[in-house]
Amino acid sequence: MIYEGKIYRPPSEAKSIILQITVGCQHNACTFCTMYKDKSFRIKSRTEINAIITTILAQDSDAERIFLADGDAIAVDTLLLIEILDRLYENFPRLKRVGIYGGPKDILAKSSKELADLKIHGLTMVYLGVESGHAGILTSVAKGVTPDQMIAAGQKVRESGLALSCTVIIGLGGQALSQEHAIDTARVISAIDPHYLGALTLMVEPSAPLAKAIKEGTFQILTPLECLGELRTMIKHLNVTHCVFRSNHASNYLPLRATLPEDRDELLETLDNVIGDQSLERLRPEYWRGL
Ligand code: SF4
Repeated sequence: MIYEGKIYRPPSEAKSIILQITVGCQHNACTFCTMYKDKSFRIKSRTEINAIITTILAQDSDAERIFLADGDAIAVDTLLLIEILDRLYENFPRLKRVGIYGGPKDILAKSSKELADLKIHGLTMVYLGVESGHAGILTSVAKGVTPDQMIAAGQKVRESGLALSCTVIIGLGGQALSQEHAIDTARVISAIDPHYLGALTLMVEPSAPLAKAIKEGTFQILTPLECLGELRTMIKHLNVTHCVFRSNHASNYLPLRATLPEDRDELLETLDNVIGDQSLERLRPEYWRGL
Protein backbone atom coordinates (compact mmCIF):
# COMPACT_ATOMS: atom_id res chain seq x y z
CA MET A 1 0.00 0.00 0.00
CA ILE A 2 1.53 3.33 -1.08
CA TYR A 3 -0.75 5.62 0.93
CA GLU A 4 -2.42 5.27 4.31
CA GLY A 5 -5.52 7.44 4.75
CA LYS A 6 -6.22 10.75 3.07
CA ILE A 7 -3.19 12.57 1.72
CA TYR A 8 -2.70 16.36 1.90
CA ARG A 9 -0.14 18.50 0.12
CA PRO A 10 0.38 22.25 -0.39
CA PRO A 11 -1.18 23.75 -3.57
CA SER A 12 2.28 24.35 -5.02
CA GLU A 13 3.02 20.61 -4.83
CA ALA A 14 0.09 19.72 -7.10
CA LYS A 15 2.46 18.32 -9.75
CA SER A 16 4.65 16.45 -7.28
CA ILE A 17 4.72 12.77 -6.55
CA ILE A 18 3.72 12.31 -2.94
CA LEU A 19 5.96 10.01 -0.96
CA GLN A 20 4.35 9.24 2.40
CA ILE A 21 7.18 8.60 4.85
CA THR A 22 5.17 9.33 8.00
CA VAL A 23 1.54 8.68 8.80
CA GLY A 24 -0.40 11.55 10.38
CA CYS A 25 0.88 14.47 12.41
CA GLN A 26 2.94 14.12 15.56
CA HIS A 27 1.32 17.20 17.17
CA ASN A 28 -2.22 16.46 15.96
CA ALA A 29 -3.79 18.82 18.52
CA CYS A 30 -4.74 22.01 16.64
CA THR A 31 -8.40 22.74 17.32
CA PHE A 32 -9.19 23.88 13.76
CA CYS A 33 -7.59 20.90 12.01
CA THR A 34 -9.10 17.52 11.22
CA MET A 35 -6.60 16.43 8.60
CA TYR A 36 -4.97 13.63 10.54
CA LYS A 37 -7.33 13.09 13.46
CA ASP A 38 -8.11 9.57 12.22
CA LYS A 39 -4.43 8.56 12.13
CA SER A 40 -1.97 7.68 14.87
CA PHE A 41 1.39 9.21 14.12
CA ARG A 42 4.11 6.85 13.08
CA ILE A 43 7.27 6.98 11.05
CA LYS A 44 7.32 4.36 8.34
CA SER A 45 10.14 1.85 8.46
CA ARG A 46 13.08 1.97 6.07
CA THR A 47 11.77 -1.23 4.48
CA GLU A 48 8.31 0.26 3.91
CA ILE A 49 9.74 3.48 2.47
CA ASN A 50 12.10 1.63 0.13
CA ALA A 51 9.22 -0.53 -1.11
CA ILE A 52 7.13 2.58 -1.83
CA ILE A 53 10.02 4.24 -3.69
CA THR A 54 10.38 1.09 -5.82
CA THR A 55 6.64 1.17 -6.63
CA ILE A 56 6.72 4.88 -7.52
CA LEU A 57 9.82 4.36 -9.62
CA ALA A 58 8.02 1.74 -11.69
CA GLN A 59 5.20 4.24 -12.31
CA ASP A 60 7.17 7.42 -13.06
CA SER A 61 10.94 7.39 -13.10
CA ASP A 62 10.91 10.82 -14.80
CA ALA A 63 9.54 12.63 -11.74
CA GLU A 64 11.00 16.11 -11.28
CA ARG A 65 9.29 16.90 -7.99
CA ILE A 66 8.63 14.82 -4.91
CA PHE A 67 6.81 15.88 -1.75
CA LEU A 68 7.44 14.07 1.52
CA ALA A 69 4.22 13.60 3.51
CA ASP A 70 2.38 13.36 5.95
CA GLY A 71 1.88 16.35 8.19
CA ASP A 72 5.17 16.44 10.00
CA ALA A 73 7.58 14.42 7.91
CA ILE A 74 10.53 16.47 9.12
CA ALA A 75 10.15 14.60 12.43
CA VAL A 76 11.92 11.67 10.75
CA ASP A 77 15.45 11.11 12.02
CA THR A 78 17.87 13.20 9.97
CA LEU A 79 20.07 10.26 8.96
CA LEU A 80 17.06 8.37 7.61
CA LEU A 81 15.87 11.49 5.80
CA ILE A 82 19.30 11.84 4.19
CA GLU A 83 19.19 8.18 3.17
CA ILE A 84 15.76 8.74 1.58
CA LEU A 85 16.93 11.87 -0.24
CA ASP A 86 20.04 10.10 -1.56
CA ARG A 87 17.95 7.18 -2.79
CA LEU A 88 15.53 9.55 -4.53
CA TYR A 89 18.24 11.50 -6.35
CA GLU A 90 20.06 8.29 -7.32
CA ASN A 91 16.93 6.75 -8.80
CA PHE A 92 15.08 9.71 -10.31
CA PRO A 93 17.59 11.27 -12.73
CA ARG A 94 15.35 14.27 -13.49
CA LEU A 95 14.51 15.08 -9.88
CA LYS A 96 14.88 18.81 -9.20
CA ARG A 97 13.09 19.47 -5.94
CA VAL A 98 11.94 17.72 -2.78
CA GLY A 99 9.57 19.45 -0.37
CA ILE A 100 8.45 18.53 3.14
CA TYR A 101 5.98 19.64 5.82
CA GLY A 102 7.80 20.78 8.96
CA GLY A 103 6.13 21.43 12.30
CA PRO A 104 7.79 24.18 14.37
CA LYS A 105 8.65 21.92 17.31
CA ASP A 106 10.30 19.34 15.06
CA ILE A 107 12.24 22.00 13.17
CA LEU A 108 13.50 23.34 16.50
CA ALA A 109 14.44 19.81 17.58
CA LYS A 110 16.92 19.60 14.68
CA SER A 111 20.29 21.32 14.85
CA SER A 112 21.23 23.95 12.28
CA LYS A 113 23.81 21.50 10.93
CA GLU A 114 21.15 18.82 10.45
CA LEU A 115 19.00 21.24 8.44
CA ALA A 116 22.02 22.32 6.39
CA ASP A 117 22.88 18.64 5.76
CA LEU A 118 19.34 18.03 4.50
CA LYS A 119 19.81 20.86 2.03
CA ILE A 120 23.15 19.43 0.89
CA HIS A 121 21.42 16.10 0.23
CA GLY A 122 18.71 17.71 -1.88
CA LEU A 123 15.86 18.81 0.36
CA THR A 124 14.73 22.06 -1.24
CA MET A 125 11.62 23.40 0.48
CA VAL A 126 10.13 23.32 3.97
CA TYR A 127 6.44 24.20 4.49
CA LEU A 128 5.75 25.69 7.90
CA GLY A 129 2.22 26.30 9.16
CA VAL A 130 2.51 29.55 11.11
CA GLU A 131 -1.28 30.02 11.21
CA SER A 132 -1.17 33.08 13.49
CA GLY A 133 1.41 35.32 15.12
CA HIS A 134 -0.86 36.21 18.03
CA ALA A 135 0.17 34.51 21.29
CA GLY A 136 -3.37 34.11 22.63
CA ILE A 137 -4.65 32.64 19.36
CA LEU A 138 -1.76 30.17 19.12
CA THR A 139 -2.56 29.05 22.67
CA SER A 140 -6.31 28.83 22.13
CA VAL A 141 -5.95 26.74 18.96
CA ALA A 142 -3.36 24.52 20.71
CA LYS A 143 -0.66 25.08 18.12
CA GLY A 144 1.89 24.10 20.75
CA VAL A 145 4.37 26.94 20.28
CA THR A 146 4.66 30.65 21.10
CA PRO A 147 5.16 33.36 18.46
CA ASP A 148 8.85 33.55 19.45
CA GLN A 149 9.29 29.81 18.96
CA MET A 150 7.54 30.06 15.59
CA ILE A 151 9.92 32.85 14.56
CA ALA A 152 12.92 30.82 15.76
CA ALA A 153 11.77 27.79 13.74
CA GLY A 154 11.23 29.83 10.57
CA GLN A 155 14.52 31.68 10.90
CA LYS A 156 16.35 28.40 11.51
CA VAL A 157 15.08 27.01 8.21
CA ARG A 158 16.01 30.19 6.37
CA GLU A 159 19.48 30.31 7.87
CA SER A 160 20.12 26.72 6.78
CA GLY A 161 19.72 27.81 3.16
CA LEU A 162 16.51 25.83 2.57
CA ALA A 163 13.62 27.57 0.85
CA LEU A 164 10.80 28.32 3.28
CA SER A 165 7.11 28.54 2.58
CA CYS A 166 4.84 29.72 5.42
CA THR A 167 1.08 29.55 5.65
CA VAL A 168 -1.26 31.73 7.68
CA ILE A 169 -4.97 31.25 8.30
CA ILE A 170 -7.28 34.18 7.68
CA GLY A 171 -10.05 34.31 10.28
CA LEU A 172 -8.27 32.21 12.91
CA GLY A 173 -8.87 34.85 15.60
CA GLY A 174 -12.57 35.04 14.81
CA GLN A 175 -14.30 38.41 14.87
CA ALA A 176 -13.07 39.21 18.39
CA LEU A 177 -9.36 39.13 17.50
CA SER A 178 -9.36 39.84 13.77
CA GLN A 179 -7.24 43.01 13.92
CA GLU A 180 -4.82 41.59 16.47
CA HIS A 181 -4.45 38.40 14.43
CA ALA A 182 -3.70 40.39 11.26
CA ILE A 183 -1.13 42.67 12.87
CA ASP A 184 0.66 40.07 15.00
CA THR A 185 0.77 37.57 12.14
CA ALA A 186 2.31 40.22 9.90
CA ARG A 187 4.89 40.87 12.63
CA VAL A 188 5.84 37.19 12.94
CA ILE A 189 5.97 36.64 9.17
CA SER A 190 8.10 39.78 8.80
CA ALA A 191 10.54 38.46 11.42
CA ILE A 192 10.76 35.10 9.64
CA ASP A 193 10.98 36.75 6.19
CA PRO A 194 10.01 33.60 4.23
CA HIS A 195 10.55 33.11 0.50
CA TYR A 196 6.90 32.13 0.02
CA LEU A 197 3.73 32.96 1.91
CA GLY A 198 0.38 31.27 1.43
CA ALA A 199 -2.90 32.44 2.94
CA LEU A 200 -5.66 29.97 3.72
CA THR A 201 -9.06 30.96 5.02
CA LEU A 202 -10.48 29.25 8.09
CA MET A 203 -12.90 26.41 7.37
CA VAL A 204 -14.02 24.32 10.30
CA GLU A 205 -15.29 20.81 9.81
CA PRO A 206 -18.03 19.66 12.22
CA SER A 207 -15.67 17.18 13.91
CA ALA A 208 -13.00 19.81 14.67
CA PRO A 209 -12.80 20.90 18.32
CA LEU A 210 -13.23 24.54 17.23
CA ALA A 211 -16.66 23.67 15.81
CA LYS A 212 -17.96 23.36 19.37
CA ALA A 213 -16.98 26.97 20.17
CA ILE A 214 -18.70 28.14 16.98
CA LYS A 215 -21.83 26.21 17.88
CA GLU A 216 -21.84 27.64 21.39
CA GLY A 217 -21.34 31.16 20.05
CA THR A 218 -17.98 31.79 21.75
CA PHE A 219 -16.16 31.99 18.39
CA GLN A 220 -17.61 34.02 15.53
CA ILE A 221 -16.50 33.17 11.99
CA LEU A 222 -15.62 36.13 9.76
CA THR A 223 -17.82 36.99 6.79
CA PRO A 224 -16.14 36.77 3.36
CA LEU A 225 -15.63 40.54 3.19
CA GLU A 226 -14.28 40.62 6.75
CA CYS A 227 -11.77 37.97 5.68
CA LEU A 228 -10.57 40.23 2.88
CA GLY A 229 -10.36 43.17 5.29
CA GLU A 230 -8.24 41.09 7.65
CA LEU A 231 -5.98 40.00 4.80
CA ARG A 232 -5.64 43.65 3.76
CA THR A 233 -4.44 44.62 7.24
CA MET A 234 -1.99 41.73 7.25
CA ILE A 235 -0.52 42.65 3.85
CA LYS A 236 -0.31 46.32 4.85
CA HIS A 237 1.76 45.48 7.94
CA LEU A 238 4.06 42.94 6.26
CA ASN A 239 7.69 43.89 5.99
CA VAL A 240 9.46 41.22 3.93
CA THR A 241 12.54 41.29 1.71
CA HIS A 242 11.28 39.28 -1.25
CA CYS A 243 8.28 37.03 -0.82
CA VAL A 244 6.04 35.29 -3.32
CA PHE A 245 2.50 35.58 -1.96
CA ARG A 246 -0.40 33.34 -2.99
CA SER A 247 -3.97 32.87 -1.82
CA ASN A 248 -4.74 30.14 -4.34
CA HIS A 249 -5.79 27.52 -1.79
CA ALA A 250 -9.36 26.30 -2.30
CA SER A 251 -10.42 27.67 1.09
CA ASN A 252 -9.94 31.29 -0.01
CA TYR A 253 -12.68 33.60 -1.25
CA LEU A 254 -10.37 35.51 -3.59
CA PRO A 255 -7.36 33.97 -5.33
CA LEU A 256 -4.49 36.47 -5.37
CA ARG A 257 -0.87 36.34 -6.44
CA ALA A 258 1.83 38.91 -5.89
CA THR A 259 5.46 39.43 -5.11
CA LEU A 260 6.03 41.44 -1.97
CA PRO A 261 6.94 44.12 -1.28
CA GLU A 262 6.97 45.14 -4.98
CA ASP A 263 3.27 44.49 -5.65
CA ARG A 264 1.93 45.61 -2.29
CA ASP A 265 0.11 48.74 -3.54
CA GLU A 266 -1.53 46.86 -6.40
CA LEU A 267 -2.59 44.07 -4.04
CA LEU A 268 -4.08 46.52 -1.55
CA GLU A 269 -5.89 48.32 -4.36
CA THR A 270 -7.41 45.03 -5.59
CA LEU A 271 -8.58 44.22 -2.08
CA ASP A 272 -9.95 47.76 -1.61
CA ASN A 273 -11.91 47.48 -4.85
CA VAL A 274 -13.48 44.17 -3.94
CA ILE A 275 -14.23 45.24 -0.36
CA GLY A 276 -15.55 48.62 -1.59
CA ASP A 277 -17.97 46.91 -4.00
CA GLN A 278 -19.57 45.14 -1.01
CA SER A 279 -20.49 42.49 -3.54
CA LEU A 280 -19.83 38.76 -3.30
CA GLU A 281 -19.91 38.31 -7.09
CA ARG A 282 -16.13 38.30 -7.48
CA LEU A 283 -15.66 35.87 -4.63
CA ARG A 284 -15.53 32.08 -4.68
CA PRO A 285 -18.95 30.79 -3.61
CA GLU A 286 -19.13 29.00 -0.30
CA TYR A 287 -19.95 25.68 -1.99
CA TRP A 288 -16.73 25.82 -4.06
CA ARG A 289 -14.52 26.28 -1.08
CA GLY A 290 -12.58 23.29 0.21
CA LEU A 291 -9.69 22.14 2.35
S1 SF4 B 1 -2.51 22.11 11.71
FE1 SF4 B 1 -0.63 21.04 11.23
S2 SF4 B 1 0.39 20.79 13.23
FE2 SF4 B 1 -1.75 21.27 13.66
S3 SF4 B 1 -2.75 19.26 13.88
FE3 SF4 B 1 -3.03 19.92 11.75
S4 SF4 B 1 -1.32 18.98 10.64
FE4 SF4 B 1 -0.82 18.91 12.83
